[in-house]
Amino acid sequence: MEKFLSIPVSRRDFMKLATLSAAGMFMGKTLSPGKAEAAGGSFDFTGADLPVICEVDTCVAGGGSAGTAAAINAGKNGAKTLLIEKGISLGGLATQGCVYPCMPTFAYGSDTPYITELNRRMEVQGIAPLLGIETKGTYGGGGGVYVPDCLTWVYDEWCEEAGVSILYEASVVGAIVENGSITACVVQTAEGLGKIKAKTFIDATGDALLARMAGVPSEKGSETTGRNQPMSLRFEMSGIDVQKAHRYFHETLKDTWMDDGFHRKFAEDVKKGRTPFLEFAKSKQVEPLFKEAVKKGELTEDDILYIQAFSIVGKPHTMSMNCPEMPPLSFSATDAMSRSQAVTFGRKMTRRLAAFFKAHIPGFEGAYISREAGMVGVRESWRIRGKYYMEADDYFNARKFPDAVCRTAYPIDIHDVKLDLAKKLSKGEYYEIPFRALVADKVSNLLVVGRCASGSFAAQASFRIQPTCMSMGEAAGIAAAWGLKNNIPMADIRWEDIPEDKRSYVSGK
Ligand SMILES: Cc1cc2nc3c(=O)[nH]c(=O)nc-3n(C[C@H](O)[C@H](O)[C@H](O)COP(=O)(O)OP(=O)(O)OC[C@H]3O[C@@H](n4cnc5c(N)ncnc54)[C@H](O)[C@@H]3O)c2cc1C
Repeated sequence: MEKFLSIPVSRRDFMKLATLSAAGMFMGKTLSPGKAEAAGGSFDFTGADLPVICEVDTCVAGGGSAGTAAAINAGKNGAKTLLIEKGISLGGLATQGCVYPCMPTFAYGSDTPYITELNRRMEVQGIAPLLGIETKGTYGGGGGVYVPDCLTWVYDEWCEEAGVSILYEASVVGAIVENGSITACVVQTAEGLGKIKAKTFIDATGDALLARMAGVPSEKGSETTGRNQPMSLRFEMSGIDVQKAHRYFHETLKDTWMDDGFHRKFAEDVKKGRTPFLEFAKSKQVEPLFKEAVKKGELTEDDILYIQAFSIVGKPHTMSMNCPEMPPLSFSATDAMSRSQAVTFGRKMTRRLAAFFKAHIPGFEGAYISREAGMVGVRESWRIRGKYYMEADDYFNARKFPDAVCRTAYPIDIHDVKLDLAKKLSKGEYYEIPFRALVADKVSNLLVVGRCASGSFAAQASFRIQPTCMSMGEAAGIAAAWGLKNNIPMADIRWEDIPEDKRSYVSGK
């Protein structure tokens, strides 16, 4: 799993960090971490004579984990809903980004009804959730198994059932704001530019793009280092003898990354003819192999910043590689040129890593790259400043809220310099995400969900995982439909006013 590792900064990186942080620069652009700023680079389309592509009750921008949940819940609660996605599959990072598996929340009772139903739908495909096994590193909710290739059509089918229309290959490029409300968003499609009119909007772009274009204040990066979380370019390798690889890690290297519970699960999976669950990472037993490869020039220091791999349920002989991670000192997710350059850089790293695994890791002799992410792995870019601003303190104090939409105890997982935030909640403790963190203050009909919701860099490092993004989206969809039915503008909706049986989560229950 994307375990909550904070990567200690090396001496070499420290020197780079000192220079770059002092200048506050990334590829020539200045970051202003932690300071709310207005949108840059947006165009005023008010009065532009553009065709209206469609008119709906609720328009969701971005079909990732959060946006798809929002659209399905708005649709099934009676709102005429359009989901706009710039790619041709739903799931965002979970599908196009090859991010697998969903993380556990480490909070019991965190699975909201949408997650339970998604797990059921995956099980119908023969893919059972990983949770069910409790180990010292895995417990609570989340931990669903959303195999990318299968998730895309589960989502398509579910949207159809919920009456959600999907507009694929459409990029949101503008917001038309009149009297403090978004009246339409502008999209670029194969036909050219057009407008989508809606009564309410949900921004689930991951980059808070619609919100920023509508003038909602946002911020980016760490308040301490000035950097965004590092990006990754994930890939999958097939042709692996997973049992041989497991023997090598477990028996030869005595790798301590996975605990005994996982090894028992591996053995049980093999016995029952299921895809055995294997995970390996740059543990202290495995690290010398990578260091040796760096010495020999087969890999670079950057290549071995973060290495992790998981077998994929239902895809035997295939592993999902949670790497390479592009060096955060060189690339920024909030600089368009830099974000693009990171892809080319990452692709080179991928080739070197794959060649290394094939040459040196038993079980990988016949392995090859079978899938490359079609979307760069952005952990964090822009976050809005909403009605409530989540902070690390909410996590550390296990804070609860009357308008909570979900709970989690996932740690503050920063893939960069240690920021003294490694303390974890104890088993059984959790904090909650308030509905107000999804409400874009200043625009009356906009909610913002997923990794770009309102919170500090550190808070986002906890709430960014898929189950939490899904539950936020679920709540936004319910609230949007409920507000429309009851004639309450989004910005005035109080989650706790929605009848309990219509809410996906009730604080403390
Ligand atoms: C490398 C990496 C590893 C991770 N590992 C894990 C893990 O193991 N488990 C886990 O639970 N979480 C993990 N996470 C975190 C988690 O996957 C993400 O934070 C989460 O999926 C974000 O969901 P989202 O819906 O907010 O955004 P996204 O999944 O990014 O979805 C945003 C969607 O909006 C679309 N979009 C963007 N702009 C526009 C536009 N202008 N017009 C139309 N559409 C647009 C995108 O195409 C995308 O589909 C990882 C993240 C990364 C980057």
